[in-house]
Amino acid sequence: MKVYNTLTRKKEEFIPIEEGKVKMYVCGPTVYNLFHIGNARTFIIFDTIRKYLEYRGYEVNFVQNFTDIDDKMIKKAQDTETTVKELGDHYIMEYYKDADKLKIKRATVNPRATEYISEIISFIEELIEKGYAYEVDGDVYYSTKSFVGYGKLSGQKLEDLQTGSRVDVDERKQDPMDFALWKNAKPFEPSWKSPWGNGRPGWHIECSCMALNLLGETIDIHAGGTDLIFPHHENEIAQSEGRSGKTFAKYWLHGAFINVDNKKMSKSLNNFFTAREILEKYDQEVIRLFMISGHYRTQINFTVEVLDAAKASLERMYNALNILNGYLNNEKEEISEKEKSVVVELNRYKERFIEKMDDDFNTADGISVIFELIREVNIRINKDSSQKLVKHAIDLLIELGSPLGIMQNPFGGSLEEEIEKLIEERNEARKNRDFAMADKIRNDLMNQGIILEDTPSGVRWSKRS
Ligand code: AMP
Ligand code: ZN
Repeated sequence: MKVYNTLTRKKEEFIPIEEGKVKMYVCGPTVYNLFHIGNARTFIIFDTIRKYLEYRGYEVNFVQNFTDIDDKMIKKAQDTETTVKELGDHYIMEYYKDADKLKIKRATVNPRATEYISEIISFIEELIEKGYAYEVDGDVYYSTKSFVGYGKLSGQKLEDLQTGSRVDVDERKQDPMDFALWKNAKPFEPSWKSPWGNGRPGWHIECSCMALNLLGETIDIHAGGTDLIFPHHENEIAQSEGRSGKTFAKYWLHGAFINVDNKKMSKSLNNFFTAREILEKYDQEVIRLFMISGHYRTQINFTVEVLDAAKASLERMYNALNILNGYLNNEKEEISEKEKSVVVELNRYKERFIEKMDDDFNTADGISVIFELIREVNIRINKDSSQKLVKHAIDLLIELGSPLGIMQNPFGGSLEEEIEKLIEERNEARKNRDFAMADKIRNDLMNQGIILEDTPSGVRWSKRS
């Protein structure tokens, strides 16, 4: 398997530290808002990569943090007259609601920065001891000059960074490129006791610290959106490698951004969408298919048209499954000699799918292979095929869809969910004494051949025979 490593700017053979196991850390959201479709792409990309690694037999220890203390959290808490803690609790709950709906597998651990304050303080103390950090009036800064490899991830030299970047000039810093590890408490801000007085951690240190505590000094994969390469991940390397003297992460993976109507998404341009808004209009599998329709290192453009195109593609996949489903009752049961070669033929597509996905998780090409398989299935399988061959084709499609999170809801799964949802709506209408609506729902279902029966233990439904 090959992965593109931002650090070396090359595709490299993927060899985990421990055979069969992957330690993976993905930078998570700052929990002061519902997450937007850009965040969603990053989360879906790394969820797909994780699921693919699992599909290939790796055991993945997957850590994704919640940043629950920073300037944005403090400002939002002040604006909404709540505490930073309550704000974090609330948006973490909301994160899970949306992420679960998108079928993003829950992380092995989702640590919160504020749960690691004492570990962060120890980490900073070690950096000071080793000469990588210094204190000024209750703030602690990392001295970028003292870390020889500074700039290696983003491919910049420290001198170029200094002249090229817009860093805040602060006389107390020894160098403009130095960054805060610990920030002295300002009035009305949450703070914790430390050897340097009351204060709070900077953003970069939380990830270095939580990765160390949950995964160890060297991890396999560190990931996030491309915006994090500099300064966030550059600073994480300086902190972690400064402290341990060892490689922090073997492979650095970065997911490209989403644009909306070919422009950068922003609230001021009015082209900003939360994942929740899109989930109201599109099935989660449509959203996932759209998000991975381009390779994870290429930007994708979000428009209603491309989402509709993803919807149509997914429908073609389900159509193929439904047609196959109709052949499951074919007369012939056992596979014939001739059909054995069809099985071999179909399995070639699995090999090709794996070949594409093994090449730096090329989901775009992987999806194309699935469509080629569907074409082949349409040619090879019909009402004369054996049940076993039909079943094999169905299983194969569902299997290849699994790491991508598509075709995972075949044959009535979605229909049943739809019926349950309508029954729920009818119950709600009846509770509100909106009998016209309740009757309408019942009649609509009746027209689709679904009969509702009101029983003492609730509503039961059945298909008209
Ligand atoms: P944040 O909550 O802004 O710290 O972001 C959480 C994750 O979402 C990070 O990995 C970011 O790189 C990623 N991210 C933020 N905006 C976008 C975007 N427009 N497209 C893709 N990923 C994004
Ligand atoms: Zn991070």
